[in-house]
Amino acid sequence: MREDLEKLRQCAEEELKAAKTRDGFLAIRTKYLGRKGLLTSLLRKLGDASPGDRPVLGKLTNQIKEELSEKIEEALGCLASSGKDEALLVERIDVTLPGRGLKYGKLHPITRISREICDVFSSLGFSIAEGPEVELDYYNFEALNIPRDHPARDMQDTLYVSDNIVLRTHTSPVQVRVMEKMKPPVRVVSPGKVYRRDSDVSHTPMFHQVEGLLVDRGVSFGDLKGVLTYFVHQVFGASTALRFRPSFFPFTEPSAEVDIQCVMCGGSGCRVCGQSGWLEILGSGMVDPEVFKAVGYDSEEFTGFAFGLGVERIAMLKYGISDIRLFFENDQRFLEQF
Ligand SMILES: [Zn+2]
Repeated sequence: MREDLEKLRQCAEEELKAAKTRDGFLAIRTKYLGRKGLLTSLLRKLGDASPGDRPVLGKLTNQIKEELSEKIEEALGCLASSGKDEALLVERIDVTLPGRGLKYGKLHPITRISREICDVFSSLGFSIAEGPEVELDYYNFEALNIPRDHPARDMQDTLYVSDNIVLRTHTSPVQVRVMEKMKPPVRVVSPGKVYRRDSDVSHTPMFHQVEGLLVDRGVSFGDLKGVLTYFVHQVFGASTALRFRPSFFPFTEPSAEVDIQCVMCGGSGCRVCGQSGWLEILGSGMVDPEVFKAVGYDSEEFTGFAFGLGVERIAMLKYGISDIRLFFENDQRFLEQF
């Protein structure tokens, strides 16, 4: 039996030397030290030995068992710590590397300009009013002094949903809705989407407008000029020259378009301003008494002015953009410049 024990010790040591993985060492432990292991079964045979040999053989068996178990534990420990080193090396964090920046979302340039425009009027005491984009013909045309046979309807390529429902062609119907609900004084701006059958480098079927309305006792054309001049100077700079040019709109009388000195050429004439040196940026006028009549205001007691402008046009002029379609293509390279 002593020979068996010595042989077993030798085999175990050789196997230990050859083993490299955690699983390998665990297998050796099971093979020799497990409950059905080789050493354990030898130990059970101890009873067969002569009584004189038993203590010596017992001692030897235990010695081998301890040695083997110690060696296996040591090997496993080594393996564990070297594995940890490897893991630390792979997962090491270089704290000197620059951080990865978070990508922030940004407001679309049209949203920004629209808010900027509304902010200017808010600072003058105007509040914001909104209305439906799918609108009754009555609010879009009729109540704004544009009856069915009126030639002004040809000015706008309207998108009809049905005979008397349209996609609003301007934000002006919001004025009518506001005046139906409240008595003067009224001071509102209404930003929003409008729709027309039109598409080229300066027109898209959907675009944004901001419309404004002020009604009170004793409002004059001078007030209109003062408010709009303040607005132009806030948005385009205090030194921007502007002019009021007589015009026509069915819902205002008298009417005026506002031009600013060309932001591209400074007034000397270029392709953008058609060599005129001026750029049209908004339409305005004193509210026509017919519009007041439609909402039940007494035009003898109250007067007011209205104005409307295209947000895309303002943004194009402010940022020097030549194609309106860029705003709607959602190309990040374009949008990230704002
Ligand atoms: Zn110009």
